[in-house]
Order: sequence, then C-alpha cells, then structure tokens
Amino acid sequence: MSGLPRLVQPKRDISRREDYLEAIYNLNEEKGYVSAADISDRLGVKPPTVSSMVVNLARKGYLDHERYRGMRLTRSGEKVAKSVIKRHQVISGLISMLGVDDQTAYVDTEGIEHHVHQSTLRRLQKLAEYLRENPDTLKAVLEFLEEK
Ligand code: ZN
Repeated sequence: MSGLPRLVQPKRDISRREDYLEAIYNLNEEKGYVSAADISDRLGVKPPTVSSMVVNLARKGYLDHERYRGMRLTRSGEKVAKSVIKRHQVISGLISMLGVDDQTAYVDTEGIEHHVHQSTLRRLQKLAEYLRENPDTLKAVLEFLEEK
C-alpha cells in the first residue's frame, strides 16, 4: 500500500462541512442571524439539503439550532469557520494580487481553501506580505506574468 496518510473522513465531507460553517459565520456577521433559506441562497443548495446538514452539524456540536429561531455556531463551529475564513483570505488575497479576475479568484479560493496545508498557507501568506511591502517586485512579477 502507499505511504500516504489515511484520511479519517472522506475529504469532500470535510469540505462541505467547512463550506457550511464558513457561510453561517459570514451570514451571521452580515445579517446578525442565519436562516436555512440564507444558507440555501449562499451555497446554491436546495433547502431540504440544508436542513439535513444543519441537523447533522448540530448533532456533531458545531452549532445550536432552535426551530424557527435560527442558528448559532458553537465555539467549535466558530473555530472551524474562522480557520476556513483565514485560509480564504490568504489565498484570495494572493491570487487576486497576481492579477486573477475576481470571479475566478473566488471560485478557485473556494476549492483550494479546504485542501491547503497549514505550512503552505503560512508561506503563501508570507509571500503576499512580501509582495505587498515590495511594490516594485510585485510590478516586475506582474509584468512577467503578463508576458506571452
Ligand atoms: Zn471560502
């Protein structure tokens, strides 16, 4: 067998959970409360799918949910959400800086954010900081990237 580490849970389950927790955190920041309909709109999934995922997340201790009263992330839900949002910001910031258009940057970030390792993220973050603090270098990099 290969020497690759075994995944405890299928990766797409973790990605999906992270998407929900990220969306719930952001919606709560934007609106002060979160309904299943909001999540459905934000993630582009059908309401029944949202309902069963919300039950699942509540059962696993990521959120508190009262029928008709919306939902709130628990401390552990918030911890996951903040970690995803941090990854999102670093990746999105860097690839936008490199001239990727907003729509593509968003779609790519949503994919990459679930799979990036902490040590990779740290390096991407340092690279973004370096380019931000050294506009001449950033300019040279952008010119190089635009070359045919
Ligand atoms: Zn994201």
